[in-house]
Amino acid sequence: MQFTQGLHRAVQQQPDNIATICDGRTHTFRQLENRVSRLAAGLLSQGFKRGDRIAILSLNSDRYLEAYLAIAWIGAVVNPVNFRWSPAEIAFSLRDSASTGIIVDDHFAEAVVQVKAETPSLETIFYAGDKPEINHFVSTESLIANNAPVEDVAACGDELLGIFYTGGTTGVSKGVMLTHDSICASASALMAEGLFQKGSKGLHAAPMFHLADMMMSTGMVIRGGQHIFLSAFNPETVLALVEELAISDLLLVPAMMQAVVDHPKCQTTNTSSVKNLMYGASPISEALLGRAMEALPTAAFTQVYGMTETSAVMTILGHEDHLPENRHLGRLRSAGQAGTHIQLKIADEQDNELPRNTVGQILSRGPSLMKGYINREEASREALEGGWMHTGDMGYMDDSGYVFVVDRCKDMIISGGENIYSVEVENAVMQHNAVAMCAVIGIPCDDMGERVHAAVVLKPGAELEFEVLREHCKQLIAGYKCPKSMTVLDALPMSGAGKILKTELRKPFWEQKDRGIS
Ligand code: ATP
Ligand code: MG
Repeated sequence: MQFTQGLHRAVQQQPDNIATICDGRTHTFRQLENRVSRLAAGLLSQGFKRGDRIAILSLNSDRYLEAYLAIAWIGAVVNPVNFRWSPAEIAFSLRDSASTGIIVDDHFAEAVVQVKAETPSLETIFYAGDKPEINHFVSTESLIANNAPVEDVAACGDELLGIFYTGGTTGVSKGVMLTHDSICASASALMAEGLFQKGSKGLHAAPMFHLADMMMSTGMVIRGGQHIFLSAFNPETVLALVEELAISDLLLVPAMMQAVVDHPKCQTTNTSSVKNLMYGASPISEALLGRAMEALPTAAFTQVYGMTETSAVMTILGHEDHLPENRHLGRLRSAGQAGTHIQLKIADEQDNELPRNTVGQILSRGPSLMKGYINREEASREALEGGWMHTGDMGYMDDSGYVFVVDRCKDMIISGGENIYSVEVENAVMQHNAVAMCAVIGIPCDDMGERVHAAVVLKPGAELEFEVLREHCKQLIAGYKCPKSMTVLDALPMSGAGKILKTELRKPFWEQKDRGIS
């Protein structure tokens, strides 16, 4: 499989339909293919070839998609850079992935100079923008204007499409090597659930460097859907674009979903065009999911559970499981069933399969697995031992194959010898009316080893006493799982991909412990 093939197909089938809309700039499928083929020719003319690594450092835009497609067209390997990283971290990812080229937009044209200084291996900086004063880089618009002929270097399915860095939620981000086949296998698992249809209008609201949005890029290209780009996430603009451009497909991580559905304008915006809402990337509370389904009644909700190492997809909770008539089955707490082509196993520490309804590590295998982590042979071997991806997530599978993710192994709290899954406690805390967001962590405790601590963000104007929260939780979960302390914060520390950084929250408590204060 080769994902750019979808572009040629779309041109044959719907050449004059709009393919991309960005800040009022529109291109039809024919124009998009034309621009991508010329950019591909331009990359070749600059000496880039099959297998070379080219990074993209840019906010979301149509030019991001064009760059992604052009890199894939010539069989080169894309390295989509997390733009929230510091120049030093960006330089590390360029060196680590051996990227010799980088494509930057206006936003990063200055920062890239510092990145270059720390990256001797970086040969060419491409500038994808229109400012005439930025003339010290190779302009992608000039390359496109050159209109050079391009050969079609169709990549083979098992060649690398990209090196995608993990979210960095639990530690240092690792470069995951994914092929065309693995990404396309994941995209088809999502399509099998009715996502990404011809004629769909998908909004890139999540950052395009993250693999979750990359699935939207890939899926929409394969199926010939329309892409609409939002440079950086903002709930108000998401709502405005939904109404103005009749967006049909949205992909949001839970933190974004919350910002959108809790925004005052959500109630007055016409969201009836939204047909599909795909969410995932971190656990979601039933309370938030319930609010979202109420706020967006026309949308079919689909949850995806996966990781960078599995090309973003392992299980899918389809829209039927979200329907009111199926709620009594309790599947909204589940992350769904294994997607097409994916095999799952819940295993003990020796990788032996555990009986149903027993918590163990979630393992997966199939065509969507990574080739490995770049430059980390030992970690790759460990992660892929026996041909299975060891996810580092704990969960169980019910008798119908529904998977319930209970926690990351690293986030599980062991208090007085009992395993406590932070996600379950968060679900209880989130059901309190005053709570907008929360993260539950284990903090040091002399008697119990760890004790349960809740960090909460309150809704505007709301107040919450710890005792009140504790009583609320006691109604929902066993006493030993209830928070023993609470801090109220203005915001939770988040990663570039919109995930709560529990390592940051834990740090001050464990540092105190290390200094002998408990
Ligand atoms: P790092 O591996 O660098 O610590 P990360 O694990 O956050 O970062 P990703 O590959 O983006 O990087 O995220 C995958 C992880 O996100 C999964 O292993 C899982 O813990 C969590 N996750 C993804 N989707 C879901 C979901 N639907 N429900 C619960 N957790 C999810
Ligand atoms: Mg991970």
